[in-house]
Amino acid sequence: MGRIVIFFSIAAFLQSCLMSEKNDTGKRWEEVNVYTHRHYDVDKEIFKKFENETGIDVNVIDDDADKLLVRLEKEGKNSPCDVFMTVDAGRLEKAKDAGVLQKIDDESLLKTVSPLLRDKDGFWLAQTIRARVIAYSKDRVDTNVLSTYEDLANPKWKGKLLSRGSDNIYNQSLLAALISNLGESKALVWTKGVVANFARNPQGNDKDQVKAIAAGEGDIALVNTYYYGKMIESEDPAERDAVSKVALFYPNQNSNGAHINISGAGIAKYSKNKKNAIKFLAFLMRNDIQEMFAAANNEFPAKKGVKIKPILKNWAKYKCDTLALQKLGGLNSKALKMLNEAGWK
Ligand code: FE
Repeated sequence: MGRIVIFFSIAAFLQSCLMSEKNDTGKRWEEVNVYTHRHYDVDKEIFKKFENETGIDVNVIDDDADKLLVRLEKEGKNSPCDVFMTVDAGRLEKAKDAGVLQKIDDESLLKTVSPLLRDKDGFWLAQTIRARVIAYSKDRVDTNVLSTYEDLANPKWKGKLLSRGSDNIYNQSLLAALISNLGESKALVWTKGVVANFARNPQGNDKDQVKAIAAGEGDIALVNTYYYGKMIESEDPAERDAVSKVALFYPNQNSNGAHINISGAGIAKYSKNKKNAIKFLAFLMRNDIQEMFAAANNEFPAKKGVKIKPILKNWAKYKCDTLALQKLGGLNSKALKMLNEAGWK
């Protein structure tokens, strides 16, 4: 009899716990509000999985990365945001500097990635890694003439180099890395040399540079690896055709290695669901989730030992720059000034 009473007491307790998670509309009380630039189907799948496993609702606001940062700043204390997910360490540092993030109070979560892939004060950590490398025309460029980022300023590329605008953070961060690796004066000479080699005014995104190489508007460009992967897997035959004429070259293999950057996340300064935010970030670092998350965008998982998809295996063998990504944020304003001074539109 005693056992039966204990059993029913436990059952009632468990039920009351479950009930307390629901409000009048049947909606769960527990939630985590995520601001993200990502809008992939796999994210929805991952968020659903998190909801099903934890009972915590994931509410998503997706928008352009820079707009989300501005929104967070504007909302201040009233912001509903718990987790801020964005691309580029430079932007994550901007968010930290703008005071919209807080320290992630969980050492074991932070340590799921190398110190190079997270903020030294624990304000953000990476989920995925991408490299920014040289795309070149298979027909017109001999790989023997490709070597380094520094070489892109060589007059031999005059009228052959394609680029997106300097307003984009990817080139700002690449230049920040060069400033750190070469010093300011050499980096400025490099920037001016690169601008002098442009085949046309900077325009479009990374995919557009690949298309322009295929169309013969220029021979080489800087692109993020995942765009190349996306074009290979594209449903648009024109994109698949363009990318088939272009190959990737990982520069600086005899020096610092190829420039990398991340997609990462932090916890919003005024998060009202901090515990859930930590749970959510920890979930994103779980091996199976890392695998899904990275594969969907042809990126590398930030956590070591996670399986990568076949298309990335070729790219994984190259040396990558071990510069702490934290530095990119600190050098961003110098990079911007330099791009401006060199006339990189
Ligand atoms: Fe991108």
